[in-house]
Amino acid sequence: MGDGAGVVIVGGGQAGYQTAESLRQLGFPGAITVIAAEDFPPYQRPPLSKAYLLGEVDRHRLKFRTEEYYAEHGIDLRLGAEATAIDRAGKRLLLADGTSLAYSHLVLATGARVRLLPIPGAELAGVHYLRSLADVEAIERRLGEVAAVAVIGAGFIGLEFAAVARKLGKPVTVLEAAPRVMARVVAPELSAFFDETHRAHGVDIHCDTAVVEIAGRDGQAAEVVCADGHRVAAGLVVVGIGVIPETGLADACGLTCDDGIVVDGHGSTDDPAIFAAGDCTSYHHPFAGRRIRLESVQNAADQGRTVAAAIAGQARVYDTVPWFWSDQYDVKLQMVGLSAGCEKVVVRGDRAGGKFSLFHYREGVLRAVDSVNRPADHILARKLLAAGISPTPEQAADADFKLKDLLGAASA
Ligand SMILES: Cc1cc2nc3c(=O)[nH]c(=O)nc-3n(C[C@H](O)[C@H](O)[C@H](O)COP(=O)(O)OP(=O)(O)OC[C@H]3O[C@@H](n4cnc5c(N)ncnc54)[C@H](O)[C@@H]3O)c2cc1C
Repeated sequence: MGDGAGVVIVGGGQAGYQTAESLRQLGFPGAITVIAAEDFPPYQRPPLSKAYLLGEVDRHRLKFRTEEYYAEHGIDLRLGAEATAIDRAGKRLLLADGTSLAYSHLVLATGARVRLLPIPGAELAGVHYLRSLADVEAIERRLGEVAAVAVIGAGFIGLEFAAVARKLGKPVTVLEAAPRVMARVVAPELSAFFDETHRAHGVDIHCDTAVVEIAGRDGQAAEVVCADGHRVAAGLVVVGIGVIPETGLADACGLTCDDGIVVDGHGSTDDPAIFAAGDCTSYHHPFAGRRIRLESVQNAADQGRTVAAAIAGQARVYDTVPWFWSDQYDVKLQMVGLSAGCEKVVVRGDRAGGKFSLFHYREGVLRAVDSVNRPADHILARKLLAAGISPTPEQAADADFKLKDLLGAASA
């Protein structure tokens, strides 16, 4: 590092923050610079659509660390700074203010950007997306002024927002193009449960419904128009139709990208000096047995740790079984594994009472467990899947069968 070059991290989200923190925890002695486009210190996104919007968490509590932490740990955190290009031959990162930074290792932790709604009226005031603190603060202001809310897209973020808006007393309509809610990420049994839950809380859900226009009045969103002619009055329209991995910098400098920046098990791209972590990456996951891209805190944090370990000379392969959570009303959903492609599902617990787990099997082997208000099942399932232990479907369905005995038997 004779020229003073150290690690430069692009992105101050979950993955960028974790990489910087883990580098210091692992004793990395060199310079660390974080280039972060947002002007608020690295913060947690999950509460944005949950406790923060309900007013239960103050904005300063969203921060992973106070500003002092970065200074004390020799991390040069540059807020409101944007990286615009990578000079791979010269090992320099170019910034929007015209300056550039030398790097020994570059980490791309650029996350994902929201997919924009490609219909007339999407630019009207009152149409919002929910990704950043700035987004949610704008939603919060609007929410207080409107009589009714429409949510376009019944994914996790759309439904979490719908739950919050109902708790705040607003009439909510959810419009979803797919035949069921959360269709991209959960099995039909879970979609059915969440559909029932939202309806029980008074949400008006329309699946199989394409939205074709947002009609305005005086430049303000007023109505959402559906393909079948149905119109939904709403002064606030929250769009949650997915995200696109932020691969622009990587693409432009010739790194391989395919639904994300392609990395290996150490988070390394095809340039040995450039790593990537978080929502912006895709990689061959040993548990999945194929290349995947995940959008989760667990993935961003664990990949950040993996990249830091590789840079600090303590390489270890990233192979955590994926896990995720969502909070809607008083329902805590915790998911581990990957249920896509599973052909058999077994219920454990009390489905009618809203406390149950779904055990998903593919070719007779347990691949995923979704737990609804059964946190102990989730913790056990993480251990079982990590250890490659598969209870039989009969054992999983039998609430009296102690799944933890299987762990004991395996380690005995
Ligand atoms: C509302 C909401 C709720 C969520 N809830 C959950 C949940 O309950 N559970 C869960 O597991 N996950 C949840 N997630 C997903 C989780 O937050 C993301 O998977 C995680 O934040 C990804 O981290 P990341 O660092 O890869 O990307 P991000 O957090 O998106 O951070 C990337 C950062 O890079 C910056 N950036 C991009 N390009 C540049 C550039 N050129 N120069 C400088 N900076 C740049 C961006 O501005 C951004 O701040 C939620 C996400 C949202 C938005």
